[in-house]
Amino acid sequence: MAKCSVCQAPAVAYVRVQRRYLCRQHYLEYVEAKVERAIRRYGMVGRGQRVLAAVSGGKDSSTLLATLSRLSGRLGFELIGFYIHLGIYDYSEKSRRAAEELAAKLGVPLLALDLREVLGMGIPELAKTSRRPYCSVCGSVKRYVINAAAVELGADAVALGHNADDIAVYNMKSFLSQDLEAISKLGAKTDTVEGVAVGRIRPLYLVYEKESFLYSLLSGLPFLHEECPFVDRRQLEVELKEAVNRLEDKSPGIKMQMVTRLAKRIGDYPRPRGEVSRCPSCGLISSGGECSFCRITRRALGRPMGMEVRRRIRALAAEMGLLRASQSHS
Ligand code: SF4
Ligand code: ZN
Ligand code: ZN
Repeated sequence: MAKCSVCQAPAVAYVRVQRRYLCRQHYLEYVEAKVERAIRRYGMVGRGQRVLAAVSGGKDSSTLLATLSRLSGRLGFELIGFYIHLGIYDYSEKSRRAAEELAAKLGVPLLALDLREVLGMGIPELAKTSRRPYCSVCGSVKRYVINAAAVELGADAVALGHNADDIAVYNMKSFLSQDLEAISKLGAKTDTVEGVAVGRIRPLYLVYEKESFLYSLLSGLPFLHEECPFVDRRQLEVELKEAVNRLEDKSPGIKMQMVTRLAKRIGDYPRPRGEVSRCPSCGLISSGGECSFCRITRRALGRPMGMEVRRRIRALAAEMGLLRASQSHS
């Protein structure tokens, strides 16, 4: 049996790019070191800052919350988890349980918003009334609600669980359609727009998908193994993922090269044109006129619901004692 290159204990994994075997303990430390390197290299979060981590119940968000909770003491930031119940039948119930168990195990406060409590409906109904694909509506809703939570909680950054494989695949997909503005959003960190949008960070930027999965497994973290029933297995992303993995097999390290070079050159890609404006209905970021969440909910419910979501999050945060001192009386 192979032995750990560091301590000679039985190995559980082989890290090909480093040509080393690692035991459980050293494997976990290896992944945590990658997350710490990404946070420091890309200046993701500073001392005294508050980070809101988006938790879906899946493996990447488990790895995200666990690694951040291990690093938060040393790097001096505050960590809060945020979960959205999307109302996707049994899948959402199971993912909520996984997210709650995870946060309890790690001792991280978790703010959970149930879309159905605010809107009276979840993603399936919203997608039907807006006649848009499930994932497109769901993506808009999640982006909006996570940003709204970060604004209400006075967070300095939103941490997302995108791993290196995700970034490589989105990059290739955007490149194929020459959507260079979409590539400009794939860096390790995006900027905050004061009062309307909180910058996003991707602490798993240097972590491969396989590593994230193994980290969750070896740490004994609860996570949901099944996929959302609406996931489209015929998507171009699935094929690109296979293509990137084949390339990686032939040229180990090429995937990492792609994401680190992308991070370096991110400023060279054109940013979306036009002024950043405030949604007249909810006051958060919009690319002109009403934001997409307010439009989607106006179509489904007859009125924009951004303000309701903001109020609900604020009330939940107040109940949990999570509002910052400067916010609690405003
Ligand atoms: Fe939402 Fe689509 Fe993901 Fe399901 S697969 S959670 S509908 S984005
Ligand atoms: Zn070891
Ligand atoms: Zn709005």
